[in-house]
Amino acid sequence: MTSGPAEVLPISSDAPEPELVERAAALLRTGKLVAIPTETVYGLGCNALDAAAVQRVFDAKERPSSDPLIAHVDGPAMLVSVAATPVPESARVLMDAFWPGPLTVVIPRHPDLPDAVTSGLPDVAVRCPAHPVAAAIISAAGVPVAAPSANRFSRVSPTSAAHVLTDLADRIEMVVDSGRSVHGLESTVVAFDAGGAIVLRHGAIPLEAIQELVPARALGGDADADRVKASPGHDERHYSPRTATLAVVPGVLADASAEQLAALARTGVRYAGYSNRAPELPDGWDFESLGSIDRIETVAHDLYDALRRMDRPDVDLIILELTGADGLGRAIDDRLARAASSVVALSPGELSDRLG
Ligand code: AMP
Ligand code: MG
Repeated sequence: MTSGPAEVLPISSDAPEPELVERAAALLRTGKLVAIPTETVYGLGCNALDAAAVQRVFDAKERPSSDPLIAHVDGPAMLVSVAATPVPESARVLMDAFWPGPLTVVIPRHPDLPDAVTSGLPDVAVRCPAHPVAAAIISAAGVPVAAPSANRFSRVSPTSAAHVLTDLADRIEMVVDSGRSVHGLESTVVAFDAGGAIVLRHGAIPLEAIQELVPARALGGDADADRVKASPGHDERHYSPRTATLAVVPGVLADASAEQLAALARTGVRYAGYSNRAPELPDGWDFESLGSIDRIETVAHDLYDALRRMDRPDVDLIILELTGADGLGRAIDDRLARAASSVVALSPGELSDRLG
């Protein structure tokens, strides 16, 4: 799709070099695809006002056209080129509190925005990133930048330039390399109704922080079934390794009897758990530490790198232990469950059935 592999352009995240920022920005202005570092994960950026460039992003990712993109802006002035004004009051309150930062608001769109960005929906998802390199590139480009995560659709999101190259090297023009992502988890996506804010996707900003400012709830429960169905990006399989993957609730192995543990013995199983509550594993299983639950930010930061690392030919099955924590734990558990296509074992017996 491009004339060669993507150019890798290192830019300092502490002090982005203006001439390098301008090179990336110039490519974006002319309809090219540039993967950029943000504080959440690496995004695959294009000019959000250029319908042909937006289409190329969907093609490069093999993303269905029904899954809309997030438009990234450098502040309130640029917001009016993608969103209708005035912005709903609850959205305004959250933007004032969390922008720039990992909060995406879903608000009525601007009529001139290409339909592909919103998948034809009346609302657009908008975020103002805090990462100094992302912010500098968007400002220099002078246009809003549509940027989904820079991975192939349904795969694990990228938190380094190397991850981007693995998935997209021959499909895009440039990868800006500013080291590892800060949070390592996507933004929190929030929509609004008469009752206040609705978290459509858990992310780097916890529900609890939003609830301090506006009435807010997470999408879920039977009452929301229709809304979940109508809401894009809620595929059960997402953020997934290629290797077969299963999730387990905390404590499943700790609750297993000696006989149950013995029956689970086999090779090729990689069990991802937490260093502060590592269970006794069946024979032949290997332990992969996702970090300590007491340092949940670090678990989030390293999560996608760990998922990519475990995804190897000598591993037959990846088992992911949910954190069971609130706050950031909700976002981590959402990603772990989707990595496992929502197959979650609740008991030693179920785990044994799944292993066959
Ligand atoms: P990403 O893959 O990180 O770019 O995430 C984009 C996600 O934001 C989508 O999969 C949806 O969950 C959400 N999103 C984007 N635009 C909209 C929209 N107009 N309405 C509802 N959710 C949206
Ligand atoms: Mg994504």
